[in-house]
Amino acid sequence: MSLTLYNDLTRKKEKFVALKELEENKKEVSFYSCGPTVYDYFHIGNARAFIVFDVLRRYLEHSGYKVNFVQNFTDIDDKMIHRAHQEKTTVPELAERFIAEYKKDAAALGVHEPTVAPRATEHISEIINTIQKIMDNGHAYVSDGDVYFDVKSWPKYGVLFKQNLEDLEAGARIEIGEKKRDPLDFVLWKGEKPGEPSWESPWGRGRPGWHIECSAMSSKYLGETIDIHSGGVDLIFPHHENEIAQAEAATGKQFVRFWIHNEFLLIDGEKMSKSLGNFLTARAAINKYPPLAIRFFMLSAHYRSPINFTPEGLEQAVSGVARLRNCKADLDFAAKTKQGENNNFDLAKYKAELEKFNQDFHEALDDDFNTAAAIGFLFDIARLINTCLKENEVLPKEFFELSLNMLAMCDDILGVIGRDEADSENVSESERAEIEEIENLIKERAEARKAKNFARSDEIRDNLKARGIILEDTPQGTKWKKELK
Ligand code: AMP
Ligand code: ZN
Repeated sequence: MSLTLYNDLTRKKEKFVALKELEENKKEVSFYSCGPTVYDYFHIGNARAFIVFDVLRRYLEHSGYKVNFVQNFTDIDDKMIHRAHQEKTTVPELAERFIAEYKKDAAALGVHEPTVAPRATEHISEIINTIQKIMDNGHAYVSDGDVYFDVKSWPKYGVLFKQNLEDLEAGARIEIGEKKRDPLDFVLWKGEKPGEPSWESPWGRGRPGWHIECSAMSSKYLGETIDIHSGGVDLIFPHHENEIAQAEAATGKQFVRFWIHNEFLLIDGEKMSKSLGNFLTARAAINKYPPLAIRFFMLSAHYRSPINFTPEGLEQAVSGVARLRNCKADLDFAAKTKQGENNNFDLAKYKAELEKFNQDFHEALDDDFNTAAAIGFLFDIARLINTCLKENEVLPKEFFELSLNMLAMCDDILGVIGRDEADSENVSESERAEIEEIENLIKERAEARKAKNFARSDEIRDNLKARGIILEDTPQGTKWKKELK
């Protein structure tokens, strides 16, 4: 494989090789992704970032890398303090609540848990140490209890955003209450204010500025130079620009090798955001649409193109997922009922066709993880499987093994099909128990029908239907599938 990623630092697609690979011949990636500020439910614009980087992470894992994936929780900032006041609660209680809600929604959307999910408030000493190093190196100053980064002392400032200091200066203002020397300087430590959480520091009590937590926590968990750092394009400036300045001023080393940013999810042509009020929370979306379809929708565009959220777009995603799931369900069922010798079936040809799609699928993802193209090839694979199932009375064991493995491989990366069958390795214990129970009920129903006990057989069908399990009777037996929910 040869993965290329578009690096916002160089504005080019570059071949991805991990630092550990270069230095120690170890397939290990360090990956930091900016996480949510936990003052509210997250919206589906944020979900786009979480989902696309989950796929990049899964693809790296699929490609044989151990991925150390760190995603932080911002659990102290102005929004947190403001919301805690509004809700008459404390900042830690608010954080605890929305971290739990984040985890529920992220899991529902198939986003794998990070290797580490550090919280800013649990890393105050690391943050203070980082600020101290910046100050010792001459790039920060104290002003009346606040500490600021001295941007003028850092000529590389603008390296990511690609603007020079004069242009940036022209647009910058010093807000009332800010005690900085220069409009571009940004706060590393905020002096204590009454009624706000605060911690001891060499500069007096106070709390961290927003940007510093990512530099401090990234170095702690991933080392001073990391492979990949990601977030939405809105984070390029000032957040990521500031992260680079802080981290490099503290360590003297390159902070991040690949900067990757997703474009916005738009609604009516505008960025979906909390501040514009034009948002749909992931929770509300999950209640309205199947999470697999939300995931499919996000992945059906390239991550560097904006996508417009529309109900029609979501409906199309629902039917796309249904097509893939039907293919998978038909394949599972046929594996149990249509297996046999078939001299008319050209297995070698099938293998070659499947292999071609396999290559196309990987090439798409290798090309700056183009999930939109990869989904296209997944449909080609499904179409090929459907044709074989339709055209053959029976099919050899190898056909089923190859096809099921192929779908499972694609879905381990994209996560848009989901699993209903008990024999899969990745099914949890509780799912396995549920699937076995369903299959036993289907057997009982078949026996009841044989014994002409239609009251019982109908009852079983109705009970399963109420649970979202749809039965379809075929000459080969009863097929079942879970309704998309
Ligand atoms: P926040 O909690 O606002 O820091 O956002 C969490 C992540 O979502 C960040 O990577 C943001 O850049 C990203 N993000 C915010 N709004 C959108 C949007 N409308 N579309 C795509 N990504 C977004
Ligand atoms: Zn960050």
